[in-house]
Amino acid sequence: MTDELKDRYDVVVIGGGAAGLNGALMLARARRSVAVVDAGEPRNAPAEGVHGLLGREGMPPSELLALGREEVRRYGGHVVSGAVGGAKRSEGGFTVSLEDGREVTARRILVTTGLVDRLPEIAGLRERWGKDVVHCPYCHGWEVRDEPIGVVATGPMSVHGALLFRQWTADLVFFTHDQPRPSDEEVEKLEARGVRIVDGAIERVETGPDGITGVRLASGELVERRVLTVASKMEARAGFLEDLGLVPVEHPSGMGVHLPADPMGRTAVEGVWAAGNVVDLSAQVGSVAAAGAMAGAQINMELVNEETAAAVEAHRAK
Ligand SMILES: Cc1cc2nc3c(=O)[nH]c(=O)nc-3n(C[C@H](O)[C@H](O)[C@H](O)COP(=O)(O)OP(=O)(O)OC[C@H]3O[C@@H](n4cnc5c(N)ncnc54)[C@H](O)[C@@H]3O)c2cc1C
Repeated sequence: MTDELKDRYDVVVIGGGAAGLNGALMLARARRSVAVVDAGEPRNAPAEGVHGLLGREGMPPSELLALGREEVRRYGGHVVSGAVGGAKRSEGGFTVSLEDGREVTARRILVTTGLVDRLPEIAGLRERWGKDVVHCPYCHGWEVRDEPIGVVATGPMSVHGALLFRQWTADLVFFTHDQPRPSDEEVEKLEARGVRIVDGAIERVETGPDGITGVRLASGELVERRVLTVASKMEARAGFLEDLGLVPVEHPSGMGVHLPADPMGRTAVEGVWAAGNVVDLSAQVGSVAAAGAMAGAQINMELVNEETAAAVEAHRAK
C-alpha cells in the first residue's frame, strides 16, 4: 500500500525503516504534515526476526515496519513507495525528486536511508547473508549459540569480532583469508580462548539443503562450519544528497562511510537532518528508532522557532 504524494509537506522523510518511521511518528503527532518516501529495502530484510528489541523481541522485520507505517498513518502522516534520486534547495526549503519523476517540496528533510553492507567477494557468501552468514552477535548470537562458527577476517577489527563471538560458542575458527595474520598478542588471545586460526584464502562457501556445511580453501581443504561471521564494509546510502553539498565520509572507526550529524540529527547543511544507520553505522533497531524520534522532535522545535520568529515580526509590524 502507498499513499498519494502531495506537492508539499512540512517534512519529507527519506527512508522508511525504523529511524524514518519513528521520526515521522513524532512529526505527525506534533501535527506536522509529513511524508515518508521509502524504497522498501531495509537493511535487515534477510533476517527472520529483530532481536534485542524490548517488547517486540524476535518480530519479523517486515512486521515491525508494517506496524510502524500504520502508526504514522494513524496520525495523518503519509507513507509513499518510491526511491529518492536527488534533492536541491528551493523556495522555502527543498525540492526532493523521486526516480520515477515525481517531485515534492518540504521545509525540512530527514534522511534515514540506512546503509549497504559490502561483503568480501567469496562465492556463496552473499546468498547466505542474514541467515547463516551473520555480522552481529547481539542480533544473531543466541540463535547460533554452540554452533561451529567461522570468522572470516575482513580487517583489523575481526579479531575483536572473534573474541566476542566466543561468548556464544566454544567451536570457533578464525579464517585469515586475504588479511594479514593477527599480531602475536592477538594470536595469544585467540589461542587462549581456544580459537583455531586457519591461514589461506577462502575459495567458496559450501552449502547443502540445510545451509552452510563448510568453507573450501584455495588449497582444496574443507573446514566444516555451520555459521560464518563477517564484518561488512558499511556504506551510507546518501549519494543522492550531493547537490546539497552533503557527501558521506569515512567513519572514524574504519567500519565504512557515513553521513556525519550531531546527536540531535543536525547535518552540516541547514534544514537537512539525518538519523539511523546512515549516520551511526553500528546502531541497532532500538537505537535508530530513538535517533529518528529525537530528530523528529528537534525538527519540530526548529519549525516552532521559525514560526515564532515570523509571528513576532508580524506582531511588531501591526
Ligand atoms: C542481517 C541483519 C540482521 C540484523 N538484525 C538485527 C537485529 O536482530 N536487531 C537489531 O536491533 N538490529 C539488527 N540489524 C541492524 C538493523 O538492520 C539496523 O539497525 C536498522 O535496519 C537500521 O534502520 P534504519 O532505519 O537506519 O535503516 P533501514 O532499516 O535500512 O531503512 C532504510 C530505508 O530507507 C530506504 N531507502 C534507502 N535509500 C532510499 C532512497 N534513495 N529513497 C527512498 N528510500 C530509500 C531503504 O529502502 C529502507 O527501507 C540487522 C542488520 C542486518 C544486516
